[in-house]
Amino acid sequence: MRIVRLLSCWACAALVATGCGRAGETPGAPATGATAAVPRHVLLITIDTLRADRVGAYGYTKARTPHLDALAAAGLTATRAYATAPVTLPSHASILSGRYPPAHGARHNGVAMGEGVPTLATTFKAAGFATGAFVSAFPLDRRFGLAAGFDAYGDRWARGPDGRPADERAGQLTVDEALAWRRSTGDARTFLWVHLFEPHAPYGDAASGRPLSDRYDDEIAEADRQVGRLLDGLGAARAETLIVVTADHGEAFGEHGEIGHSLFVYDTTLQVPLILAGPRAARGLLPDPVSLVDIAPTVLAATGVAAPAPLDGEVLRQDRGVLPQDDPPRQLYAETSAPFEDFGWSPLRSVRAGTSKYILAPTPEFYDLAADAGETTNLAAARPADAARLKAAVATFTAGRAPAPAGATTPEARRRLQALGYLGGAGPTAGQPLADPKDRRVLAARLAEVTSGELTGAALEAALERILADDPGNPQAALRLGYARVARGDCRGAAPHFRAAIAAAMPTADAHLGLAACLTTERRLPEALRVLDQAAAVEPGNPVVLANQGLLRSDGGTPAAAVPFFERALALDPDLHQARFGLAIAFARTGDRVSAAREATTLLSRLPAGAPQRPEVERLLGALR
Ligand SMILES: [Zn+2]
Repeated sequence: MRIVRLLSCWACAALVATGCGRAGETPGAPATGATAAVPRHVLLITIDTLRADRVGAYGYTKARTPHLDALAAAGLTATRAYATAPVTLPSHASILSGRYPPAHGARHNGVAMGEGVPTLATTFKAAGFATGAFVSAFPLDRRFGLAAGFDAYGDRWARGPDGRPADERAGQLTVDEALAWRRSTGDARTFLWVHLFEPHAPYGDAASGRPLSDRYDDEIAEADRQVGRLLDGLGAARAETLIVVTADHGEAFGEHGEIGHSLFVYDTTLQVPLILAGPRAARGLLPDPVSLVDIAPTVLAATGVAAPAPLDGEVLRQDRGVLPQDDPPRQLYAETSAPFEDFGWSPLRSVRAGTSKYILAPTPEFYDLAADAGETTNLAAARPADAARLKAAVATFTAGRAPAPAGATTPEARRRLQALGYLGGAGPTAGQPLADPKDRRVLAARLAEVTSGELTGAALEAALERILADDPGNPQAALRLGYARVARGDCRGAAPHFRAAIAAAMPTADAHLGLAACLTTERRLPEALRVLDQAAAVEPGNPVVLANQGLLRSDGGTPAAAVPFFERALALDPDLHQARFGLAIAFARTGDRVSAAREATTLLSRLPAGAPQRPEVERLLGALR
C-alpha cells in the first residue's frame, strides 16, 4: 500500500494551490491563513542545547514551551531530526551552509568555517534580501566565519567590571536587538537568524536548591518566552514569514556516562527539535530521519531562491517518504572532533541509515535503533556485514571534502571557549594510539561536572583533586583548582597548581595570571613580573597580560616604563577599563597631568552610566584639576 503523507507544500508548487492538511486527517486551510504562496521573510531560531524530549510538541508532559508548541501545532514537526555535531559552531555552520562539518570546515568550536563556503546568509544577500543575525554566545562570534553575508551580525558581549567581555548574553538582549534590526529593514525581504543560549549549562542558580532538571526546564521556559517575544514582534509580517526553530544539539544528563555534550555522538546529544511553520505550511509530523543540513535547501526552495551547489542536505518535501521506506535508506552523517581537540582522544564519526547506526571509533559500534533507541547494545561484532557497509559510508562523507581553511584559533579565543566548558586543553600525545572516548567517559564526565558550574566551593575543589589523583598531568584541572583555591584566599595552596599548569605548556596565559596575582598578594613583585613576562611570551596579544605588566611596573616605582604596556593593551581592547585607569594613574605619577586627565576623561566617556568605577575616576579627575 502506498502511504501518502502530505508534509509540506513549500517545494511543491503544484500542490500549493490545493492547500495542505495534517497527515492522515482532513486537509484544512493554510495554517496561518496567509495567501502568499512564497514566504517573503525567513526567521531561523536556534536554541542552544535544547533536547527535543523537553519540548511539549515532542511529548514532554512537564513542558513549559507554549510558543514552540503553538508553532508546532501550526506547522511541521520533524520527529527524528539530528544535528551534524554535538558542538555549537560545527552544528550551526551545518544549519547555515547545508553541509556536513568536513565540507564546511568548522569542525570544532574555535575552528573557523572555511573561506568562501556559501551559506543561507550569502545566498539570501545575493538574492536581494536584508540579512541579520543576532547570537548569544561566544562560540558564534563573528571571528569564526558565520558572519559572511549578514548585513548586521549582533555579537556584542557585555563587559565585566574590569572591561573584559562576557562569553554569553541573555536572550532578552538578543531578541531586543533582532527586533530593532527587523524594524529597520522597511519593505525588504528579510532573512533573520536569532540564537538563544539559555538552556546551555550552567542551568540557572545551582545554589538555589532546585533540582538540576527543573533548572534546565526553567532555562528552556525562558528561551520559549523569548521566542514568543520575537514572534509577536514580527507583527503583520509574521503571516509572510517562514519560521524555522531548531537546536544545535541536545544535552546529556548521565546517559552513556556523559555529562553535557560534545564527547559522544549518541542520539542523546544529536536528536533535536525541528519545527517549520509559515505561509501555507503543512500541519503534521515528518517521521523520516532528517539532518539539520536539510534546513538550508528547504528554506531556499520555499522562498524561491536557487541553492548554491553542492549541498549535503535535501529539501524536506511532501513526496519524501511517499514509499514506506526509501530503498536504500538515506544515509545521514554526524561527527565530533571534541574528544581529539579537547583531550587528545579519538574523534568519532557516525552514519545512520534507516534504523541502523554505526559509530567509527577505536572500538566501533553498531546499533539497531528500532529495537534499541537508547544505543545500549553494540552489535558491531554480531552484524559485521551491516557494520562494514556503514563504515565504508563514513569515508564518503569525510574524504577529500575540506574547504580552504580560514584562520586559526587564537589563545584569547581558546580562553573564552574554556570558560564555557569547552577545550579541556590536554592535547594529543604524539606517537600513541588515540584513546577511545568511551573508555575515558568517567574522567570526561568528572571534567564536565566541573565545567558545568554545578559544583562550587569545597565540592569543586574535591572534584578537581579527584581528577588530578587519576590524571596528574591534566592541566585544565590544575588551572581550575588553582583558581578555586584563590577564590577562598589560599594562594599558598593555589601556587603549585598554577605552576603545574604552566609546566604543561597550556596555550593560554591564565595560569600565569593566577600565579602572578598570588605573588603580588604576597608582595613578591619581581617574581610576579617575571611570571607576567613569561605570560607575554605565551600570549603576546593578550591585553590583560599587558595591562598587568603595566600595573606591576607602575606600582613598582617605574610608571614611565608602564605607559607603553597600558597603551598596547588599549590598542588591542579600547574598553579594557582597568588598563585605561592604570594608564591615567601612571601618567599622573610621572607628573604628566594633562595626559592623565585626558585618559580619565576618555574612561568616563566609555564607562556605562551606572558603572561602579565612576566615582573613583571622578575623584582622580578632581585631583588632577
Ligand atoms: Zn551549542
